[in-house]
Amino acid sequence: MVNLMQGKVAAITGAASGIGLECARTLVAEGATVVLIDRAEDRLRALCAEIGPRALPLVVDLLDGAQVSGMLPRILALAGSLDIFHANAGAYIGGPVAEGDPDAWDRMLNLNINAAFRSVHAVLPYMIERKTGDILFTSSVAGVVPVVWEPIYTASKFAVQAFVHSTRRQVAPHGLRVGAVLPGPVVTALLDDWPKAKMDEALANGSLMQPKEVAEAVLFMLSRPRGVVIRDLVILPNSVDL
Ligand code: NAD
Repeated sequence: MVNLMQGKVAAITGAASGIGLECARTLVAEGATVVLIDRAEDRLRALCAEIGPRALPLVVDLLDGAQVSGMLPRILALAGSLDIFHANAGAYIGGPVAEGDPDAWDRMLNLNINAAFRSVHAVLPYMIERKTGDILFTSSVAGVVPVVWEPIYTASKFAVQAFVHSTRRQVAPHGLRVGAVLPGPVVTALLDDWPKAKMDEALANGSLMQPKEVAEAVLFMLSRPRGVVIRDLVILPNSVDL
């Protein structure tokens, strides 16, 4: 720990579990104040109490458009400013299109795409006015490699990648940076619904990564000196044909 994030304020969605939680822990350990955003209120509050006084809980249901649009003043009331916004929350559905549940797809697409885009829309004007700020997405290897057995999820992450590329160029003239981290399979609750055969295969070929590996990649990206573009960072599993 060398206080790479000293004095920075970050907000991370989906921070009460998995990758978001580990990113929050890592940024706090490096000196940042972090607003942890999630709808799982009890878990969120307990985790913030455990992490320490620079971990601030903000209960938001990201599927509620009004709550997302109203997030920025609540972040500022808690933390005083905002330097980094990490659109991390996401859900996962795999399986064949013909057997899928379109209502469940809608919920996943609303979280992975609409909530992420809406939350960036909510914070961008503030960052543009300040002429500084970083926006980061947790995308996925499935955002650049179409994964055959998870068509809707892979489509959602391709959408995220398209948004990242366009937004990066739009906001760069304002001094803002936009990037994405694209991990392979990470051991989190999100993989609870993974087919057992896939899990066994990933375990056998060493393709499962830990949330900490993603958090360290995020720390690397965010600690690039200002003026250096944040590139998208793919963390390839041992096999991309999972
Ligand atoms: P996770 O299930 O461990 O955590 C997701 C968090 O999002 C939970 O705390 C949950 O309460 C919160 N959340 C869900 N719906 C919400 C809502 N409507 N409002 C507010 N909070 C909500 O998942 P994770 O694996 O840490 O995933 C984080 C991101 O990483 C996602 O975007 C996911 O697509 C991406 N990702 C995950 C993996 C993986 O294998 N786990 C791989 C690549 C990318």
